[in-house]
Amino acid sequence: MRFVYSPAHLAHDTVTETVMGAVIPANEVPERAERIRATLEADGGFTLVGPTDHGPDPILAVHDAGLVRFVEEAWREARAQSINRPNLLADTYPSFRMFEGMSPAFVAGRPETRSAAGRAGWWGLDTANPLVAGTAGAARAAVDVALTAADLVLGGERAAYGLCRPPGHHAARSMAGGYCFFNNAAIAADAIVRATGQRVAILDVDYHHGNGTQQIFWQRGDVLYVSLHADPERQYPYFLGRADETGEGQGRGANLNIPLPAGTDDGAYLAALDRGLEAIAAAPGEIVVVSLGFDTYGHDPIGDFALTTAVYHECGRRVAALGRRLVILQEGGYHRPSLGANARAWLRGAEGRPYEPLPAAGFGEHGSNR
Ligand SMILES: [Zn+2]
Repeated sequence: MRFVYSPAHLAHDTVTETVMGAVIPANEVPERAERIRATLEADGGFTLVGPTDHGPDPILAVHDAGLVRFVEEAWREARAQSINRPNLLADTYPSFRMFEGMSPAFVAGRPETRSAAGRAGWWGLDTANPLVAGTAGAARAAVDVALTAADLVLGGERAAYGLCRPPGHHAARSMAGGYCFFNNAAIAADAIVRATGQRVAILDVDYHHGNGTQQIFWQRGDVLYVSLHADPERQYPYFLGRADETGEGQGRGANLNIPLPAGTDDGAYLAALDRGLEAIAAAPGEIVVVSLGFDTYGHDPIGDFALTTAVYHECGRRVAALGRRLVILQEGGYHRPSLGANARAWLRGAEGRPYEPLPAAGFGEHGSNR
């Protein structure tokens, strides 16, 4: 299998993030993608290719131009306004309650403010999204990685893997958040729909609900969104991800959320995956975009599922058994020592190669930082 990688992600070198006001070491760090790249290269069965530049149009087909402008301008603007922190992170967000009782037309006309800190809130969801000097370039490159993986599949490959970083599935049409700036999977799915005229399914197996992907396709019938994730009753992003969210308008019935309890193990997860795959198999289309996260892993410092490396091989095998072509894009996963082995297992499963486990990773090195 070919996998698409760009070193541009290295410049998105976040050091800290905040959780409920506490500063902690960043979880979404360059080492994540480097671990995966190194393991896939060492495997010998994967071929690294660089991305091709697709320009801004595929991003603007999915995202508000204002969000794209913000991501491109924010760092320079923050420095010009003497915000000299190691990263730009908002503390004030325009809660919809701020505008309660005001007409939608009035609210839509509110200016986003000139303050870089205010703009970070205007276009943001949460305080887990540090923006640094290299963020804009990395976010653009991650989109090109995704679109290049899509090109490989549109060109006839059965499957391709895009090692996207930063991840994308929390980014909505006009909102960054949750380590995400541009929604790589949504941009790829939208581009595939436009290139083929066919329906596309997105299977999101990151630990978290992909609120951004759900929002982008909420009223569209041409993209089926299926997500397995931690129940928002206990986990980020809290306000979306429930089972009764099934889409509206033309998108009615094209959104399937499968929220799962803490402690979900291999067996329970595979049963949920089969439910998701049944929904995809029942819908038309030839290509599936996979939002692949490994924060479902038992040792993940953020997640509370109990999956093993071995089950990722079986997950990849079952997804490939759909018989559809796969554009597999990296989302989350924060237990760094296991990331390479977990990605390798999933992708080997998707290719029909045997699992052949690697020697155990050094558990505990980065086992928990919160
Ligand atoms: Zn996640």
